This record gives sequence, structure tokens and C-alpha cells, in this order.
Amino acid sequence: VIAEKQEGPLVRWVRIRKDSQECASMLEKLGLSRTDKWEDVMKSQVFYEDVYVPQLFAIPMSIKVAELPEYKSGELIIQDRASCIPVTIMDPQPGKTYIDSCAAPGNKTSQLAAQSKHVIAFERDKKRAKTLQNMLDRAKLLKKVEIRQMDFTQCDPFEVEGLIVDPSCSGSGIFRATSVTPERLNSLADFQFHIVLHALKFDAKRVVYSTCSIHKEENEMVVKRLLETPEVAEKWKLGNALPNWPRRGFKEVFDGAEKCVRVNPKEDGGIGFFAACFDRID
Ligand code: SAM
Repeated sequence: VIAEKQEGPLVRWVRIRKDSQECASMLEKLGLSRTDKWEDVMKSQVFYEDVYVPQLFAIPMSIKVAELPEYKSGELIIQDRASCIPVTIMDPQPGKTYIDSCAAPGNKTSQLAAQSKHVIAFERDKKRAKTLQNMLDRAKLLKKVEIRQMDFTQCDPFEVEGLIVDPSCSGSGIFRATSVTPERLNSLADFQFHIVLHALKFDAKRVVYSTCSIHKEENEMVVKRLLETPEVAEKWKLGNALPNWPRRGFKEVFDGAEKCVRVNPKEDGGIGFFAACFDRID
């Protein structure tokens, strides 16, 4: 049973850069046995290997992750399950270059860099750009990433394989979220619309938009407005993101929104989340 009042994470999600067998034996050495339901991890000394996101595992909160050699070497990264979904939707190719348009603290950048040739990571905030640099350094991925400390919308579009757009949002899906006024939601939605619109000007095959918000105003409604924009509609269509994931976008907002992914806080093992995938029309 999921504790209703618990405010923090229920299980610890970790991304481990090793093959599945090596990960399993590393986790077994910690005294954990395998389970096929993430919910078991809340109650027993077990680990769960996710069926949706490769190299992602749920382990009990009691494991002291920071003491593990794999954490110290940067092979193991703590990352919420939902936060791993955008890069999984992107399906990065080893020889290709990608953009992370809103990169700090760098969870998605590091996931993207591990699976591709090169990442250009934009972060407009100077302090957060430094955090991003430290995180990539610890993950030993700095040499694959070019950090541009600037406003992504001020960069002239160029050719890349794909872009991740994970802009600032209300954070209403995260633990201990504070409430948000309708005015704030409107202004966030407008900002989100413009940043994705800029990403859709690039010569790319795929753009993945995500938020850690549960509000339709920042999610399906932003996607609907983009799809109704003529310059977007002529070049982009909504892709069917992570088709096996059962929880889908709200189709009451627009027909086709079920191609988007929704993640419910706690019920799906972590934070609340939304992701949409724009694919270039051939
Ligand atoms: N993708 C990150 C991760 O998974 O670790 C989290 C990104 S956080 C939700 C949003 C980030 O985008 C913030 O660090 C913020 O400073 C940055 N940001 C917001 N607007 C931006 C812009 N116009 N250009 C570049 N970065 C921006």
C-alpha cells in the first residue's frame, strides 16, 4: 500500500551504466533479490529492473547509495523514473548529436550523452550551468558535452538529430509541491510554448517536450497550441511516445493527446510528469 501521507520518494530509482547482468550481480551483492513489481521495493530488500527505461532500477531507500563505488565513479546516477522518460522517447543514436535546451542540473543531459556522440547543453543560469558541469564531470561525460551558458531561444537554429526541451515549470508533480495561481500557470504555459516553438525551428527529426507538472495548462494545452500553429503543423506531427506506457495524455484536451505520456505522482513510483514527442513529417 502506498503511504498517502509520505512526502518523499517511496523507492530510490537509479540509472546504472552497466549491462543488465552486471547490474543484477552488483545489486545482489548488496543483499537485494530481484522482483518484477516496483511496489515490492517499498516493503522488502529487493530490486526492480524497469521494463520501460533501460538500465533503470528501483532499490530500497535504506541503501546508502552515496557510499557505493559505482556512485563515486559516476556509473550510477540517482534519477527519478519519470525524469528518465524523455531521453527514452528520444531513443538516441550513438553516432548523432543532440541538444538539451534546458539542461541543469543535468540528469537528462547525462543520460543523453551516455547514449549519443555529442550533446550541446544550454543553460541560461550561471550557477546552474556550473552545477551541470560538475554533474557531467562526476559522470565522466564532460568531454561529450558542450555547455552553452545562454538563453536557448537566443540561439539561431541549426541541424541536429533531436532536442530535449524540459523547461522550468510549476513543479506541481514533485514531492512537497506548493500551489500555483492561474496567472502563474498562464505565464509558465506561455514561456513553455515559446521555448518549444523555438526548438521546432531546428532542422531535427524529433523534439521531446516534458514537464514535472500535473497541470494540463502546462502539458496537453501547450502541445495543442503548438500543433495549431501553422508553421509547426506543416513540419511536425505528434509521435506516439513510449507506446507501452499505460498512462496517457488527456484526450479531453484534444484528440490525439493520448499519444503523450503522463506519470502520476507516487502511483507510478515517483514524481508526476508529462512528455510529448514531435516527429518531423517526412
Ligand atoms: N533537464 C534538467 C534535468 O533533467 O536535470 C532539468 C531542467 S529544469 C526543469 C529547467 C532548467 O532550464 C533550469 O535550470 C533553468 O535555469 C533552465 N532554463 C529556463 N529557461 C531557459 C532558457 N530560455 N534557456 C536555457 N535554459 C533555460
